[in-house]
Amino acid sequence: MTRVTSTPADDLSCGWFHLSKQRKTRPSHKGQTNARWVVVGAGFTGLAAARQLALNFPNEEIVLVEAQEVGFGPSGRNAGFAIDLPHDIGAEDYIGDLETAQISFKLNLQGQQILRSLVEQFGIECHMRPSGKYQAAIEDRGIAVLDAYCRGLDKLGQPYEFIDAQDLPAHIGTSFYRKALFTPGTVLVQPSALVKGLADTLPSNVTLYENTPITEVEYGAQTILSHAGGRITTDKLVLANNAFGMRFGFLQGTMLPIFTYGSLTRVLTEAEQATLGGKEFWGLIPADPFGTTLRRTHDNRLFVRNSFSFIPDGRSRKKYLDRFVQRHRTSFERRFPMLPGVEFEYTWGGSLAMSRNHMGFFGELAPNVYGALCCNGLGVTRGTVTGSLLADWLAGKRNELIDFLLSSPGPNRNPPQPFLSAGVNLNLRWGQFCAGREA
Ligand SMILES: Cc1cc2nc3c(=O)[nH]c(=O)nc-3n(C[C@H](O)[C@H](O)[C@H](O)COP(=O)(O)OP(=O)(O)OC[C@H]3O[C@@H](n4cnc5c(N)ncnc54)[C@H](O)[C@@H]3O)c2cc1C
Repeated sequence: MTRVTSTPADDLSCGWFHLSKQRKTRPSHKGQTNARWVVVGAGFTGLAAARQLALNFPNEEIVLVEAQEVGFGPSGRNAGFAIDLPHDIGAEDYIGDLETAQISFKLNLQGQQILRSLVEQFGIECHMRPSGKYQAAIEDRGIAVLDAYCRGLDKLGQPYEFIDAQDLPAHIGTSFYRKALFTPGTVLVQPSALVKGLADTLPSNVTLYENTPITEVEYGAQTILSHAGGRITTDKLVLANNAFGMRFGFLQGTMLPIFTYGSLTRVLTEAEQATLGGKEFWGLIPADPFGTTLRRTHDNRLFVRNSFSFIPDGRSRKKYLDRFVQRHRTSFERRFPMLPGVEFEYTWGGSLAMSRNHMGFFGELAPNVYGALCCNGLGVTRGTVTGSLLADWLAGKRNELIDFLLSSPGPNRNPPQPFLSAGVNLNLRWGQFCAGREA
């Protein structure tokens, strides 16, 4: 028997969750249930896996189990960029090996396409807009990244546009940045609204249980999942719970639960919107991965994301929220000095599952146990497509994308503790220090 030694506990202050439509939460599981398929984790990956399993096996019952409320976990608390382009931060031009980048691009596009067609088909209100994204720089290091990335995009044959400092305020209001690279393919969403909508439109042969953290697992001819209120027995288990997959006994010592943090302002007044200027809806990511992500939302708020912390048990800590809201304030004031009285209404954190080699896991973990885990911070599109393709592979389908995912070496092993925490924390501090004004 495997005891699940840590279960999710995200903070209560995610703006996207509170500002999206309240839905009727599905009851938690109680008693004993048998199901052909169980998917653990109702984020982008688990929702996509459960939906596609249901479509591939219309006569079978799929149980989807979520520890928290849908839209409350990391899938509902991210920055909402459904990104199309590959962005290999390990490569000099951020594209790296062309063949790998092309397949990565196809995967991202397919993830984006799945989400777009579901939003259209079911009329999910999640403020999805194909807005593209700005990648902006202020420091010399950041400018060098943009120059390298455009060489990579040339290699990949993808369009982009450079926007110089004097033209940027017409796009994003602020004159803080020296240069930006605009790429047109990113789609922006209100992530929690999207996740809630996906959960409420699952096929009828999926049963979703919320607020049901699995705390024990017994593997064998069938898998028995236990929690405080009962047990679920299944023939086939799919793990879609990102770094918490390690708590189920797999890929131990590989994934890193790294938290990052977001803040949303109150709604800007009309006068403040006029002072800000620029377009009405946009998203910007930093040239330096340790820099600041920004958005202007459909309801005229500004969103700021930066800062990282390594929390091995994957459960949020208030001390980081207290610390990083100050950093968000500084980043905001640097970029929007024309909006001095605009306070944050929400500040929250959420976990990414990172691996040192930037690889995720896709495939069989043990007999009758499968996983799509470790999204490396790109789960909106990548989680969606890997969840969906895992379900296709389990139905016996094969294609170039599935073969590519199956051939991945998966996340590599980390050094043991205490070296791991010391090394990761040092890296995060150094990265944040080097980001300078990009942060
Ligand atoms: C602030 C922030 C900004 C980000 N920005 C972006 C972005 O702009 N674009 C992007 O693509 N990605 C972004 N990310 C990353 C993205 O959120 C993740 O990659 C994505 O959520 C991964 O989806 P997932 O479904 O694989 O995992 P998760 O969203 O982590 O879902 C896993 C689910 O499993 C559940 N679970 C875990 N253990 C158990 C258990 N024992 N029993 C039952 N359920 C369990 C959890 O509660 C959770 O809901 C960001 C993340 C954060 C925090």
